[in-house]
Amino acid sequence: MSSSENNTSIFPKGEKAAPDYFVGTAYVNPLVPNDPTLHIQIWDVVFEAGARNNWHTHAGGQILMATKGIGYYQEKGKPIQVLRQGDVVNVPPHVKHWHGASPDSEFTHIAINPNTQGGVTVWLEPVTEEEYNG
Ligand code: MN
Repeated sequence: MSSSENNTSIFPKGEKAAPDYFVGTAYVNPLVPNDPTLHIQIWDVVFEAGARNNWHTHAGGQILMATKGIGYYQEKGKPIQVLRQGDVVNVPPHVKHWHGASPDSEFTHIAINPNTQGGVTVWLEPVTEEEYNG
């Protein structure tokens, strides 16, 4: 970890994420549960090392902001991208993807889900060890 990296958590750790949609342990804090006027939902998510969510899509797209640790992001058919503090990912609507921690580091990101009037997340199959290690 570089000396310029801030290792302080910004938001409190939330509740354990539903195991149906994650491999490993993750914690989700609903910063904005679902604003009915702005049509937006914002989560702070902490992934323990090796933890990741299942493959999924967002009807309204998603923005991820990496805030702590080292994480992974992958779109179907593309290489895994390494995410570090300060990285921002724009996930287009309906693009199949997953995100989570790298094998040896906890990872925290803020997830912004806009356009929630069209649905939020469609959960798909788990990310296999082969895909995760790819
Ligand atoms: Mn996502």
